[in-house]
Amino acid sequence: MTDLIHLSAADLASKLQSREVSSVEATKAHLDRIAGVDGDVHAFLHVNAGALATAKSIDERRAAGETLGELAGVPIAVKDVLCTIGMPSTSGSKILEGWIPPYDATAVAKVRAAGLVPLGKTNMDEFAMGSSTEFSAYGPTHNPWNLDRIPGGSGGGSAAAVAAFEAPLALGSDTGGSIRQPGAVTGTVGVKPTYGSVSRYGAIALASSLDQIGPVSRTVLDSALLHDVIKGHDPRDSTSLRDEWPSFADAARAGLAPGSLQGVKVGIVRELNGDGFQAGVKARFADAVALLTAAGAEIVEVSAPSFEYAISAYYLILPAEASSNLAKFDSVRFGLRVTPEGGGTVEQVMAATREQGFGPEVKRRIILGTYALSAGYYDAYYGSAQKVRTLVQRDFSRLFDEVDVLISPSAPTTAFPIGEKIDDPLAMYLNDLTTIPANLAGIPGLSLPMGLADEDGLPTGIQLMAPAREDARLYTYGAALEQLFESTWGHTLISKAPSLSVSEQSAATEGVV
Ligand code: GLN
Repeated sequence: MTDLIHLSAADLASKLQSREVSSVEATKAHLDRIAGVDGDVHAFLHVNAGALATAKSIDERRAAGETLGELAGVPIAVKDVLCTIGMPSTSGSKILEGWIPPYDATAVAKVRAAGLVPLGKTNMDEFAMGSSTEFSAYGPTHNPWNLDRIPGGSGGGSAAAVAAFEAPLALGSDTGGSIRQPGAVTGTVGVKPTYGSVSRYGAIALASSLDQIGPVSRTVLDSALLHDVIKGHDPRDSTSLRDEWPSFADAARAGLAPGSLQGVKVGIVRELNGDGFQAGVKARFADAVALLTAAGAEIVEVSAPSFEYAISAYYLILPAEASSNLAKFDSVRFGLRVTPEGGGTVEQVMAATREQGFGPEVKRRIILGTYALSAGYYDAYYGSAQKVRTLVQRDFSRLFDEVDVLISPSAPTTAFPIGEKIDDPLAMYLNDLTTIPANLAGIPGLSLPMGLADEDGLPTGIQLMAPAREDARLYTYGAALEQLFESTWGHTLISKAPSLSVSEQSAATEGVV
């Protein structure tokens, strides 16, 4: 049988449509892979015991002649930030351990309705706060390229699952880079859609004005296909856009046509490629720029002065919103309840629960956010940060008057060793230098692999950004660039990922399902 775990979602989908392969076979192949390698990778917090039954029902519906969605029968991993009926949803926190939501997030409901098969829930930094997945209350995820390295964060589980061929697709969430930065350091593709284009209903909120759900995959087309499934207006999300979106898959396919980069105006953002970036990242970025130039794109260097303050503004706005969103974990309505010895008042139970249930990064941000919102400091901190946010938005709109798309490295470094930055919050926050501006402005960003850094042989990523609502542009130019890279290298980047074959041989297939 074909090697099912190494197929792209698009290729697997066409084998499912032609009934060359069944969804049960595809799902079983991925569950076997999870059983084989996830002891080492730890991408999953929970494997879906009902996956094969779901796959079987899709096969039966197809056999009965029902018209199914393009990705029907394809397995998918789901970040644990999303609520799922029948599966625990912890957002990587002890405070929600064992909590099974009574409803599906809209993105999950759409994925199920399109016939995709949820394989399980993926690991993440607690409440999506972090850039390495080390802040998960359930232990870190390991980068499949080098198990001693971080897989990025907060969505390291989704990225590692896709990079380790445990799933062809995953759902992630991106508040400041949690889809794109893990994509960069695991050699996968990740997209933060335009704010409001994918419903946030049922996504456990971090910072509501920044959070966005998006796709994770190994190819640009696969992300486009998944984005097509999850996009669209949702009356349950008051910030959901009412736009009619074009087909993102068609946009990606258009990028594969010859000459699709001819005359495209590409801006390199000076502030997002400066000092402090790893030499190997800068070298691969220079290669990418050379490829774009050779393909007929017009490259200009542009400047966005406000970006210098973007991280500082983000780390006031995010904690402010998070401190408010996390107030609902009060020991009464959700998950954990810790009663102090000898009993206590409601306030004492609440304090004991939050003391035990939240990890150090979450506490740090709640304290910071509460302080930034306090009456005496509100204008000085939160107010100033919101002004910076406006400046970032203005910089972007000025630049998009000049260029079609902006580019930068997706992350300043390759995957760093597990443990290296865990005690240094500021060093951890700098990983999102390149991704945060897009969240502050609500615009879409796509990260795709741009090669391996010379010094450590680890993946690097390039980020493409477009104006709000122009997600299709990212898929067209992203697919074109991906094709350029692959024809230059003669292979896909992910095909160079270590196979993790030692553990694979000792796989205990039964027991998972
Ligand atoms: N690493 C960033 C943070 O810690 C981004 C988080 C995210 O996008 N969820 O806030």
